[in-house]
Amino acid sequence: MFQEYFGEEHRLLRDSVRRFVEREVRPHIEEWEDKGEFPRDLYKKAAQAGFLGLEYPQEYGGTPADKLMVVALIEEFVRQSGSTGLYCGLFSHTISMPHVNHLGTEEQKRRFLVPVLAGEKIASLGVTEPNAGSDVANLATRAVRDGDHYVVNGAKTFITSGCRADFVTTAVRTGGPGAKGISLLVVETSTPGFSVSKKIRKMGWHCSDTAELSFVDCRVPAANLLGKENEGFKGIMVNFQNERLSLAVQAHATAMLALEESIRYAKSREAFGSPLAGFQALRHKLVDMATQVEVAREFNCRVAAKMDAGMDVTREVSMAKIFSCRVCDQAVFDAVQIHGGYGFAREYVVERLYRDSRVLSIGGGTTEVMKEIVGRMII
Ligand SMILES: Cc1cc2nc3c(=O)[nH]c(=O)nc-3n(C[C@H](O)[C@H](O)[C@H](O)COP(=O)(O)OP(=O)(O)OC[C@H]3O[C@@H](n4cnc5c(N)ncnc54)[C@H](O)[C@@H]3O)c2cc1C
Repeated sequence: MFQEYFGEEHRLLRDSVRRFVEREVRPHIEEWEDKGEFPRDLYKKAAQAGFLGLEYPQEYGGTPADKLMVVALIEEFVRQSGSTGLYCGLFSHTISMPHVNHLGTEEQKRRFLVPVLAGEKIASLGVTEPNAGSDVANLATRAVRDGDHYVVNGAKTFITSGCRADFVTTAVRTGGPGAKGISLLVVETSTPGFSVSKKIRKMGWHCSDTAELSFVDCRVPAANLLGKENEGFKGIMVNFQNERLSLAVQAHATAMLALEESIRYAKSREAFGSPLAGFQALRHKLVDMATQVEVAREFNCRVAAKMDAGMDVTREVSMAKIFSCRVCDQAVFDAVQIHGGYGFAREYVVERLYRDSRVLSIGGGTTEVMKEIVGRMII
């Protein structure tokens, strides 16, 4: 029996995201991209609109929701704003606060989760290091227990929202080598010894800050440890499933927008006395894009629905990320091609989609790492 994934509550959320982006984002996004940041008060506005708390418990300021609500939010936000960079910056708590929500004590949730969901504080996830990206289990940032504190030394890199975060959910080595020696500590960035060593200049995602972080004898209260010592790796991996689905959805939403923009352009632009859409070569390209986008979207929604049903989707999430990112890469390439020279110009959104989408198959686990995961499960 056919069952539609989205219902009335999803439609209402989409309407509200659309209105928010039209009012708060679209008039400013180019300026934020040029400036390399968006205003801090956007977090508060997004919180007041009910977006930051989606999926979190009500008692901490959240709104319980199913995964398909999250899919609807991401899809609409990306399609309306044309900026996965803004999405990832504004919603960096979606990769850094689930650990607090799932592993944290009541006191930690009050201290970290509540102000973040209210848009008053900014949260980042600090896992990647200069010498350990894909190989998470090999991370080297050390946290040594000293009385009521951990003394943290090391570095993190490519940290989204890292330049202005108040809290960094940080993966640290508290034990021996490998996955079993890793813990999660929330580092408050006001702690002496913590510093932002570099703001990283990037190909895309210009309005989202990406930082290199340094920890030098940084004394973090032991009360900031999430869950048990040396058991942080599992928490990191479980949350990766959410991040990977989010990136897959961002990829299909980017591809959807690239398609919509291309159809619009192909119908309005003329060459050789005919609209571009009149040329079979371009029409076929648009049909290929539409087909790929639809398949990617359907699969991503199905994976979200399976997550909602409590199923283990490790294999499917990895496949979704691989497939959607490939679809997106092709779609943005074709969209720029269809726009001709204008596709290379800043005034057209497909130019930004082309640059911004390049990171989707790298962040949150690369395509090659996704293939290793699937390979281990099916071969
Ligand atoms: C804009 C941006 C934002 C980010 N935000 C965050 C964030 O907020 N928090 C955070 O912790 N991290 C973040 N990251 C880091 C991101 O998760 C890593 O870049 C990613 O996991 C890859 O790690 P790496 O860059 O060290 O590449 P490497 O691990 O060095 O990989 C380099 C290449 O080798 C390949 N490779 C590695 N291992 C294998 C293997 N076993 N088999 C086959 N190929 C392999 C990779 O696929 C890749 O092609 C961000 C990155 C970017 C670019």
